[in-house]
Amino acid sequence: MSAKVKSIIIDVRFPVEWSTDENLVRKAIAKELSWSPSDLGDYRVLRKNLDARKKTILAIWRIEAAKSGDRLPPILDSSFRLNALPAGAQEAHIIGAGPAGLFAALNLIKKGVRPIILERGQPVRQRRRDLVNITRNHQVDWDSNYCFGEGGAGTYSDGKLYTRSHKRGNIEEALQWLVHFGADPEILVEAHPHIGTNKLPQIIERMREEILQAGGKYIFGARLLDIQAENGTVSAIRWLDVESGKEQLNPVQKLVLATGHSARDIFELFHSKGWKLESKPFAMGVRVEHRQRLIDEIQYHGKQRGDWLPPASYRLVCQVNGRGVHSFCMCPGGIIAPCATEPDQIVTNGWSPSKRNNPFANSGMVVQIDEQVWQEAGFDGVLGGLNFQRHVEKLCWEAAGQTQQAPAQRLIDFIHGERGRLSSAIPQTSYLPGVVSVNLRELLPHVISDALAEGFREFGKRMPLFLDPQAVIVAPESRTSSPIRIPRDSVSLNHPDVDGVYPCGEGGGYAGGILSAALDGLRVSDQVVQSFEA
Ligand SMILES: Cc1cc2nc3c(=O)[nH]c(=O)nc-3n(C[C@H](O)[C@H](O)[C@H](O)COP(=O)(O)OP(=O)(O)OC[C@H]3O[C@@H](n4cnc5c(N)ncnc54)[C@H](O)[C@@H]3O)c2cc1C
Repeated sequence: MSAKVKSIIIDVRFPVEWSTDENLVRKAIAKELSWSPSDLGDYRVLRKNLDARKKTILAIWRIEAAKSGDRLPPILDSSFRLNALPAGAQEAHIIGAGPAGLFAALNLIKKGVRPIILERGQPVRQRRRDLVNITRNHQVDWDSNYCFGEGGAGTYSDGKLYTRSHKRGNIEEALQWLVHFGADPEILVEAHPHIGTNKLPQIIERMREEILQAGGKYIFGARLLDIQAENGTVSAIRWLDVESGKEQLNPVQKLVLATGHSARDIFELFHSKGWKLESKPFAMGVRVEHRQRLIDEIQYHGKQRGDWLPPASYRLVCQVNGRGVHSFCMCPGGIIAPCATEPDQIVTNGWSPSKRNNPFANSGMVVQIDEQVWQEAGFDGVLGGLNFQRHVEKLCWEAAGQTQQAPAQRLIDFIHGERGRLSSAIPQTSYLPGVVSVNLRELLPHVISDALAEGFREFGKRMPLFLDPQAVIVAPESRTSSPIRIPRDSVSLNHPDVDGVYPCGEGGGYAGGILSAALDGLRVSDQVVQSFEA
């Protein structure tokens, strides 16, 4: 920001209907500042929020305002670009081209280190064909699907960019990069920014183009099989060229392991080598889907949305017998997606286009799962949680006919009585491979289904229309976060058993979403750079 301009930062509240009328917004700002409207010069919005708790829905905007005649600099930082790497730049290998791996690559280039990215899946465009194959033909490719492929698990998602991190500088940096690659600059100011599944692939492609131009490298269809170490330090990786079926061996010096929460083979690899892993709690449950119009009606007190209100969302949390039940990754105007990574499982998640204009609203509704749960279900050891996840995913696949059709039930039938009841017909859902009526209350482990049923009843007390007869649940929502942590030193971020390996992002257990994974990529890559300088 230019030091010369005298500006003031304030929060301004006004009826949300005003937000599309520049004159009314200026009037509200001037009033808040006790300035006459003609005294108000340039202004810029730093943050956009909404308060829909009461009938009069308010926009709450954080504004930076200047006096008439003063100009404020744009919020967009035009300095974000990658310079070409010198020929002899140090090299670091990154496994996984999800947000963690890609942001690590951007930061490495910025700091003079050449990233070599190995990704088991396909580039975004090719990946789309593999997604269609899941929906139409029920065929799940082991390496290219909703979780695996360029851009990682979030490429075909709602692209929500929320994080609990408070490191504003880093968040700003990650968002500025996304805008640089083509995201709407509104993400810089929206309190709950999202990009949308129709926009994310182009952003990921532009990112790749710039990384390649700067001298970074990508190898697609490259599945990491083994990590080799000499005297406790990483020395080489063995990987499979999935197209030719040939194995390759590459010497490596630094290895950023950003393989995401679905890379079960990587957890199993660490386990087989006797390298430290830790189990961690996670959450599991179902996706619940309503008509978007109904959610709007609930959240906006029956008001029409107009141009000024986004499709409404909700966040619900309660405790059932000491176990948390909560909504997760809500996708207003979205679609429930088939996110299995292996053929004999059902996994659901959700996505939305940038306009969030599909007629459905879906959300994960999940229960906190800990060691006690998976042990009682007969799954022991550090991989117990992972094996419990796998077990539930397979149960759902078997119950719905061993295709990518998912088991589903009307919400009101799920919460009916002690054990639920089979729905005679399932209303239309957005889940494209199709659904099969199953009594999920009986099918899912009772620790999950009983807590969910109680949770839904509680949410129905808060929002009676939530228990709409047309609302459907589809199962399972099982990949909310990693069931395992790959530990790392709190300062060097190296794995304690193998120097030069940096667990990163959601797979390591250090992130829980696109933005937090990107931030972890920035953090880990800083350590990689420092280790070269040491
Ligand atoms: C449908 C869907 C919707 C989602 N919506 C949102 C959302 O709106 N907002 C949000 O914040 N989060 C969302 N998420 C979660 C989000 O995508 C993840 O939290 C995030 O992508 C994690 O980033 P990551 O880089 O750590 O791992 P990932 O994105 O999982 O990337 C890991 C990459 O590693 C690759 N890989 C795995 N194993 C190997 C191997 N052996 N060899 C080589 N490569 C390998 C994978 O192919 C993958 O590309 C969604 C996820 C899904 C599936």
